[in-house]
Amino acid sequence: MKVQKFGGTSVGSAQRIKNVASLITREEGNIVVLSAMSGTTNSLVEISGYLYNKNADGALDTINRLHSKYRGVISELYSGEEYKAKAEEYVSGIFSYLSSFVKQLFTSVEEKVILAQGELISTHLMTYYLQEQGVNAVLLPALDFMKIDDHGEPDQNYIKEKLGAVLEENKGAYIYITQGFICRNVHDEIDNLQRGGSDYTASLIGAAVGASEIQIWTDIDGMHNNDPRIVDDTKAVRHLHFEEAAELGYFGAKILHPTCVLPAKYANIPVLLLNTMEPDAPGTVINNIPEPGTIKAVAAKDKITAIRIKSSRMLLAHGFLRKVFEIFESYQTSIDMICTSEVGVSMSIDNTTNLASIVHDLKKYGTVTVDLDMCIICVVGDMDWENVGFESRAMEAMKDIPVRMVSYGGSNYNISFLVKAEDKERALKALSKSLF
Ligand code: ASP
Ligand code: MG
Repeated sequence: MKVQKFGGTSVGSAQRIKNVASLITREEGNIVVLSAMSGTTNSLVEISGYLYNKNADGALDTINRLHSKYRGVISELYSGEEYKAKAEEYVSGIFSYLSSFVKQLFTSVEEKVILAQGELISTHLMTYYLQEQGVNAVLLPALDFMKIDDHGEPDQNYIKEKLGAVLEENKGAYIYITQGFICRNVHDEIDNLQRGGSDYTASLIGAAVGASEIQIWTDIDGMHNNDPRIVDDTKAVRHLHFEEAAELGYFGAKILHPTCVLPAKYANIPVLLLNTMEPDAPGTVINNIPEPGTIKAVAAKDKITAIRIKSSRMLLAHGFLRKVFEIFESYQTSIDMICTSEVGVSMSIDNTTNLASIVHDLKKYGTVTVDLDMCIICVVGDMDWENVGFESRAMEAMKDIPVRMVSYGGSNYNISFLVKAEDKERALKALSKSLF
């Protein structure tokens, strides 16, 4: 059994739903996880915003606009009256339900119910479409088996048990369709796995059923070994270790969020990144198999700020770093890179909302300097410290570029450089030239 996940753009129009339908019916017995059609979750967020503000007109306006978009999709998607009527009835039910919220007290509980409707609609439309085509498609309601615990973490034992039971009840279907993103919480209320959470759903389901692979389908051509907008002749990366994918995930590379793939990683299930526009291309495989001696990719993260605090009090003083880190923690600001010397520490952050307060508080402990408009350049691959030569090749490539910080040894898979934003292009090109 495989798990196949399609994001919002992949099911973003009637035509695209049809394309996905032909893709997923090439093989029997898989579970297909769908996101809401693109734009829908954002519209639902917008509707919730109006409802919080008791702006009934704003809410109804957006609800009606979204409803008419779905009427268009339905009229294009189905060829016969029977399924057109079924889909229309289902979707109208949802939209009148949404409209009923204008008369209610509106809290985050109601908001989550609203946010869940996008995935409910897309999966119903797909299931009806497959059934109209004569496919034995069964819709598995995610709200019957996806659950988060009181920390908001997925309850993997519950998911495994319930999903197993639901599958057993529906044995023998040609294909199973289910919703990404949505779940129930400990109070049994409708909840979700956070925005973009459908990948997480796919990974959790894959782990729960012991899938042979988890396929994440998008409309982009997998991972490239460098930024194709900046560097010519970039190549698709065919294979990544889970750790390498996690390193790249932080760098805005268009791949999975690291926590989303953890269930797959622990269950040792390969994750494939595939392209709906080129369904037979090999894509990128992410698994637990290391590939010694290779550098996989270079990625950049923009809008970084570097902060240095220097103090002779740091020398041999225990507890200094704790005090520094506590300041960042108190402003809910996470640190990306860190470098320390005997008398100073440099850190990089990407969220500058509380920069002024952080700098103010840090001044209690030493002299603070800030460098704005920086960029992290990250090289990912086999960077095991016992290997020789890889760090020096990356360093050598950077020889003409002023480097503010270097971070190496934090994991076995990465070396990062902090440079000025204006040197980003030069750095990416130089690294590509020397590493690939
Ligand atoms: N529909 C949800 C969102 O837009 C979940 C997802 O697409 O993964 O965030
Ligand atoms: Mg997504």
